[in-house]
Formats: sequence, C-alpha cells, structure tokens
Amino acid sequence: MSLLSVAHLSKSFDGVQAIDDVSFDLEAGQLLALIGPNGAGKSTCFNMINGQLEPTAGEIRLDGHDIAGMRPRDIWRRGVGRTFQIAATFNSMTVLENVQMALLSHDRRIYRLFSRVASWKEDEAMALLDLVGMATHARRSCAVLAYGDVKRVELAIALANRPKLLLMDEPTAGMAPQERNELMALTARLAKERNIGVLFTEHSMDVVFSHADRLIVLARGRLIAQGDADTIRNDARVREVYLGTGASFSPRAALSAGASS
Ligand code: ADP
Ligand code: MG
Repeated sequence: MSLLSVAHLSKSFDGVQAIDDVSFDLEAGQLLALIGPNGAGKSTCFNMINGQLEPTAGEIRLDGHDIAGMRPRDIWRRGVGRTFQIAATFNSMTVLENVQMALLSHDRRIYRLFSRVASWKEDEAMALLDLVGMATHARRSCAVLAYGDVKRVELAIALANRPKLLLMDEPTAGMAPQERNELMALTARLAKERNIGVLFTEHSMDVVFSHADRLIVLARGRLIAQGDADTIRNDARVREVYLGTGASFSPRAALSAGASS
C-alpha cells in the first residue's frame, strides 16, 4: 500500500476546473516533485491534501484511509506536515524555542506561561536542530536569521510532528541556486533516513531533476506525465507545455542541459 494514494481528484472553483481527474501515488521515503506552469493547479492540489480545500470529487488516501475533506488539524494529526506554517510569534523567539514549541504542540501539551518552558523538550529540540544543521544557531533570535536558515528551522519545526508525509509548496522560493540545492539535498537525506514521503513543488528544473525520485506534471489541472527525471525530460508533451512559458522555469536551458548529459 502506498503512503499517499490520490485517485480521480478534482476541484472546481465557480466553473473553473483547477484540478481535473488527477491520480498519483507516493511511497514512504520518496521525493515526488509536482511541477507545471503557473496556474496549473499545484497549490490547489496541495491544499486538498492538507485539508485547506475540500475536493469536488476523488479520494486522497493516507496509509489506506481516505482523508479527503477532513479538517486540516485532523489531517495534521494523522501525520501530514508541511512547511510554510510559520507562527506569528516566530520572530519573537529563538531558534530553539520555536522547535520546542512545535514539539509541545505535537504532544498536545498546554503551554503555560508560568511553567518552566525553557527546559521542556530541549534535548529533543536540539537533536532536530542538529539534524538540519542549525544547532549552533539555537540561542539566536529567529528575527536575525538569514533566509536559508529560516527555511531549515521551518524544516525542523515540520519534523517535530513526526510526519509520515511532508508537503512543501515552493519551499525554496526566494533562495539562491546553491541554497535551493542544499535545502533539497537535506530534505532528500531526511526523507530517506526517517522514511518520510515528500511532495514538493519547485520552479528550478535543475533542482527538481537533481533531487526528485519521481515527477508528476500538471498542465491546466490535468496530469500530463509522470515518471523519473529522464522520462519527464524526454516527454514531448512536457516540453511543449514548458517551452511556451515565461522565464521562471528556464525550460530550454534545463531541458537541453539534461538531454546532452
Ligand atoms: P499553481 O499553484 O500551479 O500556480 P493554483 O493551484 O494556484 O496553481 O491555481 C490553479 C487554478 O485555480 C488557477 O486558474 C487559479 O486561478 C484557480 N484558483 C486557485 N485558487 C482559487 C480560488 N480560491 N478561487 C478561485 N480560483 C482559484
Ligand atoms: Mg502555487
């Protein structure tokens, strides 16, 4: 049984078919990239899996249980984590405190202002920070972190809930190419070590082709191709879809570099 099994998923907004009969599977320990031009339906697909949006039709099975239409909190409890959930208080706490808060939240303990929160889960939080390479920054305020470091703290926070499935919608947006590669290499390593399935979107084809185990390609809400990097690189429909789009995907460079290597 697959970790995540999406079948005949559809979503329409007032007659606009944002996702149209999409089916795919994701195995534990694998990185699956969801790619496609802007407006293809990637975020809509993510938001149905995390419970922010209710599907118009279809199934979303996590370990065989249909989670389609469940509330975000219940889906999170079943082990679906995501990055980009920075709390409003993020910048007012240190790196370590943020990860401790995430661990407490996982344990569903009540945060009491007058308790000695400082030592709660500190070892576990430090272990998570070590995992993402941020242990030496533990006592710094999150407000002063470099952008790439914030992303690594976000990853540690997402891991605090011990997710089986991690959803990352454009996790490397705004990062320099080297940072993008580092973050996805780290994510890939953690996915393998902890047997977490990762579904992510990413605009850089270089990053996608380097780190994803498999790719699925959406265009106008429809799944037009799926397979490994070589399959997708050489797919005529994928090339057609990408060659007409704007500069953000740099498809010509990525595709020709891939084809010649
Ligand atoms: P992507 O993430 O691939 O860029 P989206 O999932 O954001 O694409 O959008 C897919 C399509 O659905 C677009 O045509 C978009 O305008 C439409 N859409 C997304 N969210 C909404 C919404 N809340 N209401 C109406 N239309 C939406
Ligand atoms: Mg999007």
